[in-house]
Amino acid sequence: MTLIAPYDPDNIFARILRGEIPSVKVWEDDHVLAFMDVFPQSEGHVLVVSKTSTARTLLDIEPDVLARLIAATQRTARAVCKALDPEGFQIMQFNGEAGGQTVFHLHFHIIPRWADRPMKGHGHAPMADAETLRALAGRIAAALD
Ligand code: AMP
Repeated sequence: MTLIAPYDPDNIFARILRGEIPSVKVWEDDHVLAFMDVFPQSEGHVLVVSKTSTARTLLDIEPDVLARLIAATQRTARAVCKALDPEGFQIMQFNGEAGGQTVFHLHFHIIPRWADRPMKGHGHAPMADAETLRALAGRIAAALD
Protein backbone atom coordinates (compact mmCIF):
# COMPACT_ATOMS: atom_id res chain seq x y z
CA MET A 1 0.00 0.00 0.00
CA THR A 2 1.35 3.41 -0.91
CA LEU A 3 1.62 6.34 1.46
CA ILE A 4 -0.82 8.40 -0.59
CA ALA A 5 -4.14 6.58 -1.03
CA PRO A 6 -7.85 7.30 -0.72
CA TYR A 7 -9.39 7.33 2.75
CA ASP A 8 -11.30 4.12 3.51
CA PRO A 9 -14.54 5.17 5.28
CA ASP A 10 -14.83 1.67 6.74
CA ASN A 11 -11.51 1.72 8.61
CA ILE A 12 -11.90 0.65 12.22
CA PHE A 13 -11.61 4.16 13.71
CA ALA A 14 -14.22 5.53 11.27
CA ARG A 15 -16.50 2.72 12.43
CA ILE A 16 -15.80 3.58 16.08
CA LEU A 17 -16.61 7.24 15.34
CA ARG A 18 -19.90 6.22 13.75
CA GLY A 19 -20.70 4.07 16.80
CA GLU A 20 -20.74 0.87 14.74
CA ILE A 21 -18.20 -0.83 16.97
CA PRO A 22 -17.59 -0.20 20.66
CA SER A 23 -14.72 1.73 22.20
CA VAL A 24 -13.75 2.73 25.70
CA LYS A 25 -13.99 6.51 25.58
CA VAL A 26 -11.89 8.81 27.73
CA TRP A 27 -13.42 12.06 26.49
CA GLU A 28 -14.76 13.68 23.36
CA ASP A 29 -16.05 16.95 22.01
CA ASP A 30 -17.36 17.95 18.58
CA HIS A 31 -13.87 17.73 17.08
CA VAL A 32 -11.92 14.92 18.74
CA LEU A 33 -12.27 11.58 20.48
CA ALA A 34 -9.80 10.10 22.97
CA PHE A 35 -10.24 6.38 23.64
CA MET A 36 -8.33 3.46 25.09
CA ASP A 37 -6.15 1.35 22.80
CA VAL A 38 -7.46 -2.23 23.10
CA PHE A 39 -3.97 -3.64 22.54
CA PRO A 40 -2.15 -1.36 24.99
CA GLN A 41 1.61 -1.14 24.73
CA SER A 42 1.62 0.02 28.35
CA GLU A 43 -0.99 0.64 31.01
CA GLY A 44 -3.00 3.73 30.06
CA HIS A 45 -2.28 3.70 26.29
CA VAL A 46 -4.73 6.22 24.78
CA LEU A 47 -5.46 7.13 21.15
CA VAL A 48 -6.64 10.55 19.99
CA VAL A 49 -8.43 11.02 16.66
CA SER A 50 -10.14 13.80 14.78
CA LYS A 51 -13.87 13.34 14.29
CA THR A 52 -14.04 15.70 11.33
CA SER A 53 -11.01 14.89 9.20
CA THR A 54 -10.60 12.03 6.77
CA ALA A 55 -6.82 12.36 6.80
CA ARG A 56 -4.99 9.04 6.66
CA THR A 57 -1.61 10.44 7.63
CA LEU A 58 0.11 13.57 8.86
CA LEU A 59 0.59 14.57 5.22
CA ASP A 60 -3.15 14.86 4.58
CA ILE A 61 -4.52 16.67 7.61
CA GLU A 62 -5.69 20.25 7.45
CA PRO A 63 -3.41 22.44 9.67
CA ASP A 64 -6.28 23.85 11.73
CA VAL A 65 -7.62 20.34 12.41
CA LEU A 66 -4.11 19.19 13.30
CA ALA A 67 -3.82 22.08 15.75
CA ARG A 68 -7.00 20.95 17.55
CA LEU A 69 -5.85 17.33 17.50
CA ILE A 70 -2.43 18.00 18.99
CA ALA A 71 -3.96 20.31 21.62
CA ALA A 72 -6.38 17.48 22.50
CA THR A 73 -3.44 15.08 22.66
CA GLN A 74 -1.65 17.41 25.08
CA ARG A 75 -4.79 17.76 27.23
CA THR A 76 -5.18 13.99 27.32
CA ALA A 77 -1.49 13.39 28.06
CA ARG A 78 -1.71 15.80 31.01
CA ALA A 79 -4.65 13.81 32.38
CA VAL A 80 -2.87 10.49 31.79
CA CYS A 81 0.14 11.77 33.72
CA LYS A 82 -1.98 13.18 36.56
CA ALA A 83 -4.02 9.98 36.86
CA LEU A 84 -1.33 7.33 36.43
CA ASP A 85 1.83 9.16 37.49
CA PRO A 86 4.17 7.62 34.88
CA GLU A 87 7.87 8.48 34.89
CA GLY A 88 7.63 9.47 31.24
CA PHE A 89 5.42 9.07 28.20
CA GLN A 90 5.73 8.71 24.48
CA ILE A 91 3.66 10.33 21.75
CA MET A 92 3.68 8.10 18.70
CA GLN A 93 2.23 8.65 15.27
CA PHE A 94 2.82 6.25 12.38
CA ASN A 95 2.44 7.02 8.68
CA GLY A 96 1.95 4.38 6.00
CA GLU A 97 2.20 0.64 6.26
CA ALA A 98 5.98 0.76 5.90
CA GLY A 99 5.97 3.38 8.66
CA GLY A 100 4.23 0.99 11.05
CA GLN A 101 0.68 2.33 10.60
CA THR A 102 -2.08 -0.27 10.84
CA VAL A 103 -5.24 1.88 11.00
CA PHE A 104 -5.47 4.49 8.26
CA HIS A 105 -7.27 7.28 10.09
CA LEU A 106 -4.66 9.67 11.48
CA HIS A 107 -4.19 9.31 15.23
CA PHE A 108 -1.77 10.06 18.02
CA HIS A 109 -0.77 7.46 20.60
CA ILE A 110 -0.14 8.47 24.22
CA ILE A 111 1.92 5.73 25.88
CA PRO A 112 2.83 6.16 29.55
CA ARG A 113 6.25 4.80 30.49
CA TRP A 114 7.85 3.53 33.69
CA ALA A 115 11.55 2.74 33.81
CA ASP A 116 11.01 -0.77 35.20
CA ARG A 117 8.16 -1.75 32.85
CA PRO A 118 9.16 -2.66 29.30
CA MET A 119 6.82 -1.35 26.63
CA LYS A 120 5.06 -4.01 24.59
CA GLY A 121 5.70 -4.03 20.85
CA HIS A 122 3.54 -2.03 18.46
CA GLY A 123 1.09 -4.51 16.95
CA HIS A 124 2.21 -7.30 19.31
CA ALA A 125 0.49 -6.40 22.58
CA PRO A 126 -2.24 -8.66 23.99
CA MET A 127 -5.82 -7.42 24.06
CA ALA A 128 -6.85 -5.81 27.35
CA ASP A 129 -10.15 -6.64 28.96
CA ALA A 130 -12.85 -4.00 28.70
CA GLU A 131 -13.33 -3.70 32.47
CA THR A 132 -9.67 -2.84 33.02
CA LEU A 133 -9.79 -0.29 30.20
CA ARG A 134 -12.99 1.26 31.55
CA ALA A 135 -11.41 1.68 34.99
CA LEU A 136 -8.32 3.35 33.47
CA ALA A 137 -10.45 5.58 31.23
CA GLY A 138 -12.46 6.68 34.26
CA ARG A 139 -9.31 7.61 36.20
CA ILE A 140 -7.92 9.54 33.22
CA ALA A 141 -11.22 11.32 32.53
CA ALA A 142 -11.43 12.34 36.19
CA ALA A 143 -8.01 13.98 35.88
CA LEU A 144 -8.91 16.14 32.85
CA ASP A 145 -8.54 19.90 33.28
P1 AMP B 1 -1.29 2.41 14.21
O1 AMP B 1 -0.57 1.10 14.01
O2 AMP B 1 -0.41 3.57 14.54
O3 AMP B 1 -2.20 2.68 13.04
O4 AMP B 1 -2.18 2.23 15.51
C1 AMP B 1 -3.42 1.62 15.52
C2 AMP B 1 -3.72 1.30 16.95
O5 AMP B 1 -5.08 0.98 17.06
C3 AMP B 1 -2.93 0.11 17.51
O6 AMP B 1 -2.18 0.53 18.64
C4 AMP B 1 -4.02 -0.90 17.87
O7 AMP B 1 -3.72 -1.58 19.06
C5 AMP B 1 -5.23 -0.01 18.03
N1 AMP B 1 -6.51 -0.63 17.77
C6 AMP B 1 -6.84 -1.50 16.79
N2 AMP B 1 -8.15 -1.79 16.84
C7 AMP B 1 -8.66 -1.10 17.88
C8 AMP B 1 -9.97 -0.98 18.48
N3 AMP B 1 -11.02 -1.65 17.99
N4 AMP B 1 -10.11 -0.19 19.54
C9 AMP B 1 -9.05 0.48 20.05
N5 AMP B 1 -7.81 0.43 19.55
C10 AMP B 1 -7.62 -0.37 18.48
